[in-house]
Amino acid sequence: MAEKRKYKKRFCKYCEAKVDFIDYKDAASLKYSLSERYKIMPRRLTGNCKRHQDMISNAIKRARSAALVPYTVTRKTVVTNPFENLR
Ligand SMILES: [Zn+2]
Repeated sequence: MAEKRKYKKRFCKYCEAKVDFIDYKDAASLKYSLSERYKIMPRRLTGNCKRHQDMISNAIKRARSAALVPYTVTRKTVVTNPFENLR
């Protein structure tokens, strides 16, 4: 394959974990669907199902307005894994 693949074969992480509700306060669970620039990852990359992607995007938008997740990042604050300290 000519194109480099950043993400592996995908499946819905939330289905696997049997998540029924995604809490916007739980940044650790949102991290799977945020890029290193805190953008919401598209479903084609994360492999999330429609149902969970909708929940995630809602939760992230709520988390943003509650200032738990930034809307944008400046160059200086870009890190490879913003959620390192949550692990
Ligand atoms: Zn799912």
